[in-house]
Amino acid sequence: MRCTLDREFSTGALNKYGNIELSPSSGVINYGQGLFEGMKAYRKEEKGDGLLLFRPEENAIRMQVGAERMCMPSPSVDQFIHAVKQTVLANKRWVPPRGKGALYIRPLLIGSGPVLGLAPAPEYMFLVYASPVGTYFKVNLVVSHRKEFDVFNLNLLQEGWAPIHLVVEEKVHRATPGGTGGVKTISNYAPVLKAQKQAKSQGFTDVIYLDSVENKYLEEASSCNLFIVKGNVISTPVTTGTILPGITRKSIMEIARDYGYQVEERLVAVEELCDADEVFCTGTAVVVAPVGSITYRGQRLQFQTGDTSVSRKLHKILVDIQMGLAKDERNWTVEI
Ligand code: PMP
Repeated sequence: MRCTLDREFSTGALNKYGNIELSPSSGVINYGQGLFEGMKAYRKEEKGDGLLLFRPEENAIRMQVGAERMCMPSPSVDQFIHAVKQTVLANKRWVPPRGKGALYIRPLLIGSGPVLGLAPAPEYMFLVYASPVGTYFKVNLVVSHRKEFDVFNLNLLQEGWAPIHLVVEEKVHRATPGGTGGVKTISNYAPVLKAQKQAKSQGFTDVIYLDSVENKYLEEASSCNLFIVKGNVISTPVTTGTILPGITRKSIMEIARDYGYQVEERLVAVEELCDADEVFCTGTAVVVAPVGSITYRGQRLQFQTGDTSVSRKLHKILVDIQMGLAKDERNWTVEI
C-alpha cells in the first residue's frame, strides 16, 4: 500500500503506507485542524486495467472551501487530482474487480506544525491513502496498522442492495449554525461517536441528526445525506452550513431532475417521515442506500425499498455511470 505525502502541495512523493511523524503540539492533534475527503476508484471492466474516479474536482473544491474555514492553505484542484491519481495508480492491484467493491481514497489536509496557544498551525500536510472496500455498512473500511494490505483476508461482497435501519437522535447534534458542519473537518465526527456507538449496539445502522435550534428539521446521518420521497417529489434537507454538501447528493439531485422527478431542497420536518413513501441516504461510501425503517420516539416507521423503488432506480443509474456501464453524458468520470 502506498500513499502520497506532501508538505508543499507540489513536491509530493509516494511513500509506503505507515506511520507519519507529527509534533505533539501540532495543530491537528491539539485543536482539530484537519480536513478529509472520501472518494472511490472503480474498475471500468470486470478485471481490466481502466479505473474510474467520480467527479474528483468536486472533492478538490470542497477541500478548498473547508481549508478556508479551517485557516489552512489548500492544494489546487490539479495538485489534488494529481496526488489522488498517483495514489490510485500505485495501488492499482488493490482495486477490487468491478461489482465487488472499490478502492476507497482518503485525502487529508492537516495542520502539522507546532502551535501551543490557540492559532492556526504554521505548517500543513496534505496526504492521500487508500484501502479496498466492499459494500458500505457490510464490510468495514480496512485501515491497516500494518504496512501492507497483503496480509488481510478481505471479505469483499457484491455491491449490494440491503436496506439500512436508522434512529432519530434528539439529544445529540452534530452541527450548530455558525459552526463547521458544512465542511468536512475531522472535528465534526467526534460529537457523534457516542450516539453512533449506542445506536449500533441497539441494532441500528446509523443515526439521523436534527437541527440544533428547533430540534425539528432533518439534517443528515453520520456520514451520508438524506432524501425523502413522496409521490413524484424528492426532498432533501437544504444545506445552510450545518449539513455537508455531499457530492453524491448533488449528483442524485441532477439525475432525479433529468428523470422527471420534482426535487426540492428545503427544510424537511421530522414529522414528514411519517408520511413518506421512501427514504434513502447518499454518500460516497453508501452510494444510494435504501432506508428500511426509521425509529423515532420509540415508533418504528417502515418504508418501501423493493426493486421498483425510486431509490433503486436512482442507485442503478448512478452506479452504472460510476462503473462505466452507462454513457457518462455529464462527463462526471475521470479515467486513470
Ligand atoms: N454527510 C457527511 C457528514 C459525510 O461525512 C458524508 C461523506 N462524505 C456525506 C454527507 C456524503 O458526502 P459525499 O456524497 O460527498 O460522499
